[in-house]
Amino acid sequence: METYDYIVIGGGSGGIASANRAGMHGAKVLLVEGNELGGTCVNVGCVPKKVMWQASDLVESLRRDAAGYGIYAPVDKIDFSKLVDNRENYITFLHGAYQKGLDGNHVTVCKGYAHFVDNSTISVDNHLYQAKHILIATGGRPKQLTIPGGEYAIDSNGFFELKALPPKMLIIGGGYIAAELSGVVHGLGGQVTWAYRREYPLRTFDQMLSANLVEMYQEMGIQMWKDAVVSKIEKVGDGYQTFFEDGRIISSDCVLFAGGRKPNTEKLGLEKTAVSLDEKGFVQVDKYQTTTSEGIYAVGDVTGAVELTPVAIAAGRRLSERLFNQQKELYLDYNLIPTVVFTHPPIATIGLTEQTAREMYEESELTIYHSRFTPMYFALNDEYRQKCEIKLICLGKEEKIIGLHAIGRGVDEMLQGFAVAIKMGATKADFDNTVAIHPTGAEEFVTMR
Ligand code: FAD
Ligand code: NDP
Repeated sequence: METYDYIVIGGGSGGIASANRAGMHGAKVLLVEGNELGGTCVNVGCVPKKVMWQASDLVESLRRDAAGYGIYAPVDKIDFSKLVDNRENYITFLHGAYQKGLDGNHVTVCKGYAHFVDNSTISVDNHLYQAKHILIATGGRPKQLTIPGGEYAIDSNGFFELKALPPKMLIIGGGYIAAELSGVVHGLGGQVTWAYRREYPLRTFDQMLSANLVEMYQEMGIQMWKDAVVSKIEKVGDGYQTFFEDGRIISSDCVLFAGGRKPNTEKLGLEKTAVSLDEKGFVQVDKYQTTTSEGIYAVGDVTGAVELTPVAIAAGRRLSERLFNQQKELYLDYNLIPTVVFTHPPIATIGLTEQTAREMYEESELTIYHSRFTPMYFALNDEYRQKCEIKLICLGKEEKIIGLHAIGRGVDEMLQGFAVAIKMGATKADFDNTVAIHPTGAEEFVTMR
């Protein structure tokens, strides 16, 4: 039996961040990871997705926008397999960088899958390890489509295994991943049908964003199938035929299902501990990330809280500050978390949607500012003038900003700074008091009336 101060199960975003922070404060830390270091984000999430988004964005700029600037740059060939190889080489580089970081903080890395033996002991390949504090940071995995032929659909992991781009792709789901991959595949030259089961995709976002996205994707040539409830997939030759409840049928070379994620909790031996799960299998934690078992904590996707990398990292680091650096009252506040959807163009959002704000407050308490404009980037393009649309939701006489929403070129890089201001309690007057930066799209936020 080996003894540590802190055992972290899962070497993804949350686990690595927490292990490093504990190591920095002198704790003796063991990090157990069954797969590659970096978890979902590095291997099959944010990182490969952003590489593909950037590639797709570049192709769009060259094909669509360059000529307006007098630049003729025909895209003769997209070498998808080279793109994938280079992406994977970059990911291999990141594995090394993470290992180096952990070595620098004297964190011991153990390769293998861990399960609990009791509340303070885990087993990895029949070796026992004990600690006073144990963190569950085992993340999640894609949900499968439970209809006849559902097994023919790939998920986001499968997408990142593709060595060639399927010419015709059906993407099912109405969330982040379906939105992002529809844009990526289209930009790289694939023919995309995006099917979602409600009137609008991204239903938890401000409706201004989803309505604009639908319009923009349609304009680009993505087929948008709303109210599309999938019922069956059949394999036909080298491709697939997918059936929907309303009678629609579509043939494609590939079907991708992105219908949310479920937590990696089944094989953890949690029945040997006092850790409680909710009805969906997520680990239940309090605001300090402590489970129902003293000494066992959980952060990141496995808790079912906001499933974003920086959230897992922030929760993991705060936990280690609390446990190993006497910051007894430190915890992550899950309010006002900014997020970007890497669509084409991107979506940036923080705080309440207009729909939710109207449910929570009286009409007289809310002031909504709104602007729609053509970014100067498109000014020289006679055929395509993509819009940018932004919205501020303000509360009370002092017009405290409680929601900021934007869709348009560059909004992904605008949001972080505004998020700082909003987290600090900024009002519309504070925005108005800030001198604009010209010519940018961001200046609209401080000049809108
Ligand atoms: P993970 O990163 O999933 O790490 C969990 C780790 O635990 C894994 O490495 C797993 O192998 C390991 N593990 C599981 N069980 C065991 C066990 N028993 N023993 C040992 N190890 C175990 N978020 C963003 O903020 N921005 C984005 O742009 C973004 N894009 C995304 C794109 C896609 C396609 C996907 C799927 C997700 C994306 N996310 C994005 C979400 C983000 O990846 C996750 O929120 C984040 O990775 C969660 O971190 P985590 O530490 O909770 O879990
Ligand atoms: P989401 O939770 O974003 O969306 C799931 C979608 O799947 C919903 O629209 C849901 O529909 C739909 N759905 C579920 N079951 C079915 C079904 N049987 N048939 C049809 N549609 C179905 O999940 P994703 O998988 O897209 O992404 C997982 C998480 O990863 C995200 O929530 C996000 O936190 C994170 N992520 C973050 C990114 C970023 O930061 N840019 C990028 C990618 C992922 P309905 O709306 O009708 O319930």
